[in-house]
Amino acid sequence: MNTQVSLSDLIRQTVQAVLQEEEQGLESLYLPEGLDGTLPLPVRMRSARSEQPGQPARPSQPARPSQPGDTSQPGGTSQPAGPGVAAPAARMNQAAGAAQAARMNQAAGAAQVDQAASAAQATQAADAAQAADADQAAQAADADQATQATSLEALYAKYHRCTACALGFKRKHFVFGSGNEHADVMFVGEAPGAQEDEQGQPFVGQAGKLLTRILNAIDFTRDEVYITNILKCRPPNNRDPMPEEIDACDAILKEQIRLIRPRLICALGRVAAQALLGKNGSIRSLRGRFHDYHGIKLLVTYHPSGLLRNAAYKRPTWEDVQLLRKEYDRIVQSDAQATPGTEVS
Ligand code: SF4
Repeated sequence: MNTQVSLSDLIRQTVQAVLQEEEQGLESLYLPEGLDGTLPLPVRMRSARSEQPGQPARPSQPARPSQPGDTSQPGGTSQPAGPGVAAPAARMNQAAGAAQAARMNQAAGAAQVDQAASAAQATQAADAAQAADADQAAQAADADQATQATSLEALYAKYHRCTACALGFKRKHFVFGSGNEHADVMFVGEAPGAQEDEQGQPFVGQAGKLLTRILNAIDFTRDEVYITNILKCRPPNNRDPMPEEIDACDAILKEQIRLIRPRLICALGRVAAQALLGKNGSIRSLRGRFHDYHGIKLLVTYHPSGLLRNAAYKRPTWEDVQLLRKEYDRIVQSDAQATPGTEVS
């Protein structure tokens, strides 16, 4: 025995040994010499300690199970722990509880760290996805800008062989449009007819001649305005354009409007009105007032071919084009007032 070891150290060592024995089920318990009568050991442990090697265990002391988990004792009975076992058992329970609590705390801490890491990863992934989307949108916008024509001539060159819809395989001519590249007023019809398909020019048949007369009646010439159609190729037998044909051709018209930058647009007929405004409705319900087309005033009226079929449309059409002319004059007057020194004719 090391005489330098203090009594409290010996007590602590002994208690640890007792706990260890209890926990591990050791056959013998070693006590530092001379402390058998000093330590408050449980009765059961004192008895075990006092047994001579080779002697059978007393009935009061349960023998060690032969296998882990096997608590039966050949020739003996399982006994409840005596009062002396209560203190170490309580300490053991306490220790086990503390260990379990520590493990739970550790697990909870780990789970919290995991959760925080997952949240950080999710945020990082969302940020990365957003940045990628923005990049993609910027690239698409750049690509769009790079492919946008800078003049009507360039736009014609870009699309005159278009086969984005089936009509492109049946046409004689791609009917792009005609008139003033810087027109303030743009007329948009439905689609080329037989005459237009033959000549490659819009509104050159009977309906086109009537449109020329209408324009002249409100002091416009064809060279002052710009005339085109929703579709640039003729649908067979002059049938109505299909929605998919309108969608396919939409980019060309939009580009024309972007380049010409008209102050006023006049939609001729139901198909043109519905395609431009993106809503259903009869001419009767849409005509007689201005609508908004991406910041441009848009008026709806009957198609000249409708007037050729039904004379009743002449009067409302006349009212509509007069309204158009009046609005055009107002815009010109307003521009002149905004720019001093400009003469209004
Ligand atoms: S109608 Fe328009 S989209 Fe279809 S082929 Fe002709 S130009 Fe192209």
